[in-house]
Order: sequence, then structure tokens, then C-alpha cells
Amino acid sequence: MKIILKRKYFLILLVALSLVLVACSDSASSSGDEKGYIGIAMPTKSAERWIADGNNMVEELENLGYKTDLQYGEDKVENQVAQIENMIAKGVDTLVIASIDGSALTDVLEQANAADIDVIAYDRLLMNSEHVDYYATFDNFAVGVLQASYIEEELGLKEGEGPFNIELFGGSPDDNNALINYNGVMSIFQPYIDSGQLVVPSNQTNFNQIATLRWDGSTAQSRMDNLLSANYTDKDLDAILSPYDPISLGIISSLKGVGYGSSDKPLPVITGQDATVAGVKSIIAGEQTQTIFKDTRILAKNTIEMIEAIHNDEEVPVNDTETYDNGVKVVPTYLSTPVSVNKDNYQEELIDTGYYTEEELSN
Ligand code: BGC
Repeated sequence: MKIILKRKYFLILLVALSLVLVACSDSASSSGDEKGYIGIAMPTKSAERWIADGNNMVEELENLGYKTDLQYGEDKVENQVAQIENMIAKGVDTLVIASIDGSALTDVLEQANAADIDVIAYDRLLMNSEHVDYYATFDNFAVGVLQASYIEEELGLKEGEGPFNIELFGGSPDDNNALINYNGVMSIFQPYIDSGQLVVPSNQTNFNQIATLRWDGSTAQSRMDNLLSANYTDKDLDAILSPYDPISLGIISSLKGVGYGSSDKPLPVITGQDATVAGVKSIIAGEQTQTIFKDTRILAKNTIEMIEAIHNDEEVPVNDTETYDNGVKVVPTYLSTPVSVNKDNYQEELIDTGYYTEEELSN
């Protein structure tokens, strides 16, 4: 009898456990009203912006009654491919993809097309595939222009000041944004490099020479270490074009290691991107100089307007039908405007708009 009872309890326990397991395995997805099922593939949780992007999308979509499945590939292409395949198998209606490697998803996009799923490239363009319906992003050329113009102004280049020593860093070579960002930067810098007002002692100015795989801060830090020992034993750096806050922070560590950051050897002007908490704190502390704020709430809103229009069979809102050629087609795009942020306007742009609280940014 005792044994039978025990068995009964054991069975109940098993059923309860499997229910918990089912609930856990489904924790990344949540159900709405079956208005539509949206798969959201994000690149990594190691960068704050993608966490905010994912959360904003899920929250807004669920408010509208959609079911969502949000997955992060942790910067491993094979994870992202498997996650998207899984979403296709689960029967999503629309895929929103911020890729890790923009050219690595052609096969899985074929599968999405065969299953009649709409695909929106999110922030990063999906390359070399005709099965990309729309693209929602920030103007990444403008990002580069804002970063370089900031340095232009800080150094007084328009007023003819110089020569100044500068080094350039780029984003990930497999991310189309990184190349566009670089093109924006060079549209401002090239004339000053040509005239000699800007000098790049390492001579590394091509995109492939300055790119940083996966936008990784420690990779950039090692490159900065090498640049310093090879080119700066007898001269100082005046500015660094950094494309992303964690890269800027890696560079700053390297610079501090050789004595920058003291009153007789101030840190150079250093740009960034994403207005990360650590980046903005560094700006407030007077180390990093500038960053680019891409309000992920706006990008989520624009993407959701696209999803709603697709769902309602209405015209999908786009504002650029010429620029974003992915190698196979020009993808209709909705571009948002990035904002340059430094010590003078971070309060207005980041705190007053509710993006961060004062406490989050206090050291
Ligand atoms: C995004 C940037 C981000 C970078 C690193 C780029 O594709 O546009 O906002 O800083 O990836 O995650």
C-alpha cells in the first residue's frame, strides 16, 4: 500500500515536474491572442542595446496581441541559424532578424520564403538574399558623419587647425553597418587626411585594416596596444575614431596603460556608439568624449508599424527605397535618425527622455 501510494505521489510529482519543464522551455516565448506569431532573432545579450531591442519588441508586440519568440544567438552564427530554423518549424508568420553575420543566413532565408514567412531585417541588413522584405534601421552613414564631425569640431579642423595624430577603429567586417559607418566617417575625414591636417601614423585607414571582428572591446584594446608601441613612442595621439562604446573603453584602458589620462598627458578625443551605461558613465567622468544614441524604442516602434501593416495588408511604411542594396536587391527601408551625445546633452537626450534613470548613470 505504502509503495502504491509512493508511486502515486511519484507520478504526480513527475507530471508536475514536466509541466514546470514545459513552462521553462517556453520561457523565451509568450503567447498573445494568436493575432500573429513573430520570431525575433537577436545577435547577442553581451551588448546592452540588443537586450533593450528585444525587450521593447516583445513588450510592444504583446500589447498588440501578438505571440512572440525572442532568441539570442550569442554571437555564434550556427546558433542563430538553428534558432531561426526552429522559429520556421514553429510556424511564425514574420521573422525579425538582427543578424550576427549578415551574409550567413541565405539558406535559412530560402527556408523562410518556402514557408511563406515575411522577413524584416532589423538594424543590420541581411545580405545576398532576395528573401528580405523590409529593413528597419538607423541611418548608419549619418552615425559615421556624426562621429567624425564631432572630432572635426573638437580639433577645430574647419578652422584650419592641425596637424593632429589620429587612429581609426571600425566595427565588425561581417556587419554591413560597420562598412556604412566607415563610409560616413571617411566622407568627413578624407579631405583632412589628404591635406595633412589629420595624420594617421599607423597608415591604417582601409576598412579591412581597422575593422574589429564582432565589435569586440578586447580585440580593439590589443590593436591599440600594438599601435601605441609601434607608432607612438615619440608622439602623442590627439583623437581616436571609435565606432562603439565597448571598443572605446578597451582603447581607453590601453591608453591609460601607457600614461594617458593625466594632466600632462590628457586622453585624446574618443567617440563611441550606442550610449551604453558604461560609455555614458565614462563620458560623465571625462574619459570617453562622445557617443551616438540610437533610441531602440523608436526602432522597435518602426518595426512594429511594419509588422502591423503586413498583418493588415496595408502599405508598409518605408522612407528609403534606393540606398540599401544587399547585393541581390534594394531592400525597402525605414531609416531613423541617430543623435550625437556628449557631456553637454546626455541629461536632455538620455535621462529626460526616460531612456535611463539618473541612478543608472551615477558612478
Ligand atoms: C549596430 C550598432 C551596435 C553594433 C554592435 C551594429 O550593427 O548598428 O548600434 O553598436 O552593431 O553591437
